[in-house]
Amino acid sequence: MTWEERWHPLREEWVVPRYDPDCYLCPGNTRVSGTTNPNYKQVFVFDNDHPSVSFGAPNVEQPWSSVYQARPARGVSRVVCYSPRHNLTLAELPADKITGLLRTWQEQYLDLGNLPEIEHVLIFENKGEAVGVSNPHPHCQIYANNFVFKTIANEVAAGRRYFSDNGRILFQDIILAEKEDGRRIIAENDSAIAFIPYFARYAYEVFVAPKNTHSHIAALSSELKDLAEVLRTVLIKFDNLWNMPFPYVMPLHQAPTDGEDHSTFHFHIEFHPPLRKPNLLKYLAGPEIGGGNFLSDTSPEDKAAELRSMPDVHYKSEAKS
Ligand SMILES: [Zn+2]
Ligand SMILES: [Zn+2]
Repeated sequence: MTWEERWHPLREEWVVPRYDPDCYLCPGNTRVSGTTNPNYKQVFVFDNDHPSVSFGAPNVEQPWSSVYQARPARGVSRVVCYSPRHNLTLAELPADKITGLLRTWQEQYLDLGNLPEIEHVLIFENKGEAVGVSNPHPHCQIYANNFVFKTIANEVAAGRRYFSDNGRILFQDIILAEKEDGRRIIAENDSAIAFIPYFARYAYEVFVAPKNTHSHIAALSSELKDLAEVLRTVLIKFDNLWNMPFPYVMPLHQAPTDGEDHSTFHFHIEFHPPLRKPNLLKYLAGPEIGGGNFLSDTSPEDKAAELRSMPDVHYKSEAKS
C-alpha cells in the first residue's frame, strides 16, 4: 500500500491514512532530533524537539537599562500523542481512551509541577489549521515554566479576591449561576458540567469542569470518568456542528505549582474556538488587540442552544459501512 491522502469526491474531503510516513508523531518514525518513536499503542509523551524553554538555558546578558529585565527561560516542554492513529481526533477516541489521556495529564501535572523552579504547568491542545496546526495527528503540548501564565495569575487573583469578599469559591458561583439559568449548559452528569459561560468572548467558547472544587486535575479520582464523558460529548458536538474536525485552542486551567495555597482555584478546561462559521474566523482586531477587550459577535444563549442540539454521536461513526 502506498501512503497517500485520497480525495473523497462525494464527501468532498480528504481521507487521511492511519499512518503517515512523514509524520514525526506516528509510531516508529524518526523525529528531527534523530530519536525514533517507539511503536506506542496508547498515549505517548516525549520532550519537545524544539523546546521554547529548557533547564539547559544559558545565562543571559542583562539589559543595559534597569527598566528592562531578562532571565534564562528555564523549564520543560513536552508533546503528548493521544493515539498511534494519525487520522483520529480527540473527539473520535472512545471514552476509556479519553479517561486514559486525563490520567496522563494528571501524571504530567504532578511530575513537572514537582520539579524545582517550575511554577506552573500549562497543558494545551491547538487543533486545526485555523490555529496554525497542519499535522492532524492528535496531540497536545505541555509547557512547564518558571513563571505563572498571565491568564492563570489573573484567575488566581480574582478567585482569592472573591473568596475574601464573599467567603465562596468564584467558580462554584459561576457553575451555580449557569445551572440556575440553564440556557447555556451543553452537557452535564453527576460530577461534571460543560457550558458556554454567560461572559463568553468567542462564539463557541465552552468551559468543562468538575462540579466540586479541585485546584488541579491530579486531585480528581472517581470524578475523572465523568469529566471524560462530558468532555467527549462537547468534542463530538463541536465536530458535528459543520461535519468537520472543529478547530480550537484548549488549555487546562490549573493552579500554579509555586508552593502557595491555591484552595480557592477551581480546575477547568477552556475551549477557545477561532471560527464563527465554517471558514469564517473571529478576527482579533482594534478592540481586542488594540484595546484588550473583546467584542462578542454572537449570543452565548443562541450558540449554546445550537451546540446542545447537535447529536451526541460523532458524524463519522454514523456512516454505514
Ligand atoms: Zn502521525
Ligand atoms: Zn480559566
